[in-house]
Amino acid sequence: GVAVFWFRRDLRLEDNAGLYYALKSGKPVLPFFIFDKEILDDLKDKDDARVTFIYQAIEELKAALKKLGSDLLVVYDTPEYAWKKVLEKYSVAEAYTNHDYEPYAAQRDTQIAASLKGRGIALKTYKDQVIFDRGEVLKDDSKPYTVFTPYKRKWLETLKPFYLTAYPNKKYFKNFYLFEAPAMPTLKEMGFVKSDRVFPDKEYRDVMDDYSKTRDYPGIKGTSRIGIHLRFGTVSIRQLASDGNSCNEKTWLNELIWREFYMMVLYHFPQTMDHAFRPEYDRIQWVNDEKQFEAWCKGETGYPIVDAGMRELNATGYMHNRVRMITASFLSKDLLIDWRWGEHYFAQKLLDYEMASNVGGWQWAAGSGTDAAPYFRIFNPESQQKKFDPDLKYIKKWVPEYADFTKYPRPIVDHKFARERCLKAFKAALNR
Ligand code: FAD
Repeated sequence: GVAVFWFRRDLRLEDNAGLYYALKSGKPVLPFFIFDKEILDDLKDKDDARVTFIYQAIEELKAALKKLGSDLLVVYDTPEYAWKKVLEKYSVAEAYTNHDYEPYAAQRDTQIAASLKGRGIALKTYKDQVIFDRGEVLKDDSKPYTVFTPYKRKWLETLKPFYLTAYPNKKYFKNFYLFEAPAMPTLKEMGFVKSDRVFPDKEYRDVMDDYSKTRDYPGIKGTSRIGIHLRFGTVSIRQLASDGNSCNEKTWLNELIWREFYMMVLYHFPQTMDHAFRPEYDRIQWVNDEKQFEAWCKGETGYPIVDAGMRELNATGYMHNRVRMITASFLSKDLLIDWRWGEHYFAQKLLDYEMASNVGGWQWAAGSGTDAAPYFRIFNPESQQKKFDPDLKYIKKWVPEYADFTKYPRPIVDHKFARERCLKAFKAALNR
């Protein structure tokens, strides 16, 4: 029988933990990918660039496997039926994959593991997308951390060279199953059209050395934009973290630890995906003005730094971290719109969308999260703009009409008024 390796968000052959163990098992390894109907059919935008990104990554994987005499079996179906097809066609002895932590994924994997087990097949899963798993960096009493700084301290204490070492998959490439898979479904057959977005490349070393000095300025290229590659596993976290660990500039590694912190938090507190981490924040009386929400989405709030961010997001699927914080604060605090509306909007648009980081970032901005900015600290969009886009480089790019003040719309809300209103609403909810 063959060992099936199920790719999900680990779309690479090198330094892939689960694939390494499958190849080492000695059984011929049959590579397998599912275009999950349950996820794809829910996507509203039929030119969703992320689907194109995955599609291209799958095409590349398939081509690389063909060069090795093997192939990639690609099925468009629900995971349950896709697996059924594989089991009908091949004699499967074992199944391998990597951990996937999001609530939907965890549920899917439990179900698939149970049905495979019913046929006497074990689904073996491995840590791959993080340096430390949900249960590896815990407090001394085995409870999860809810504050970043002590989590980070423990993370660094736990770190040993082993955790940063790449898996030498290449050594075992001869163990792939030699076969030919049917043609893969086309994007069109799955109801999608190819997006013409240009995707960020995998380069990050060029920003690492000056990262702490440049990362806050959206007008310069001070960050890597590698998020989408981390999301779908077209790069290995071990490579990024290992470079970060040996770099003098430690802020890069620090941000990768934030990523794991948020993943750990979402895993242990899955309700925070749509509820405040601090439950009293669910009592806030949001204004939820739909017209103002629409203006925010379109980048027509009359606050240039907010508008620039939203337009960058709409046009490219990316928004700079500093501006994510500003736009999120503006929506939840100045407009008093439920942070979940914003979280959903970002989820639809961000190429690097990661539920844990998105929910974490939004709850941070709204004040309801783990390491939240206190609710009385409300970003002033004007002073943020002066500080982080002093020469208006970013704003000129995304809001060109700002150059002519007469053409630029007036603010949809006055910041001073909004600030007072926010303080009142938050106080009322928290002091009850
Ligand atoms: P770089 O600065 O080059 O950093 C490299 C990598 O480190 C990132 O790709 C990311 O994986 C990780 N990282 C950096 N900063 C953070 C951070 N603050 N928190 C967690 N991980 C970080 N990040 C996502 O990956 N997906 C999201 O959906 C997401 N939503 C966010 C929503 C809000 C409201 C906020 C405030 C932040 C959000 N972030 C999210 C975190 C951060 O903004 C992005 O990771 C970063 O901007 C991605 O750009 P980059 O790849 O150029 O990052």
